[in-house]
Amino acid sequence: MAAPKKKTLALIAHDGKKAEMIGFVKDNIEFLKRFNLIATSTTGKLVAQTGLKVKRYLSGPFGGDAQITALVATGDCHAVIFMRDPLGMHPHEPDIYSLLRICDVHDVPLATNLASARMIVIGLE
Ligand code: PGA
Repeated sequence: MAAPKKKTLALIAHDGKKAEMIGFVKDNIEFLKRFNLIATSTTGKLVAQTGLKVKRYLSGPFGGDAQITALVATGDCHAVIFMRDPLGMHPHEPDIYSLLRICDVHDVPLATNLASARMIVIGLE
């Protein structure tokens, strides 16, 4: 019998949260290996440096969040860990809201900070 298909998990971190994201990834590396990982470009580049395999999409401001939103909408992304920087200004704010909205529309687990990211790990473990 074929092995069950891995679920897809998206990782996105704003610049002010990238160090936090990498700390989270290192702390949960065995958990993350069980997923097809996807990420926005720069986040994915940093995640790949931990040795994890990750498919990179465009950088957030260039449409990466929108690409991941489309995957959530079509049922091809099953959870999102999005370390948002609530204190920063982001040129792609409309795309960020769209991602949050589409996760809510499709009832897809979404973490927007470290504490809720840890809850996703516990919930999906
Ligand atoms: P980045 O994009 O991973 O390419 O920095 C993230 C974002 O700003 O949404």
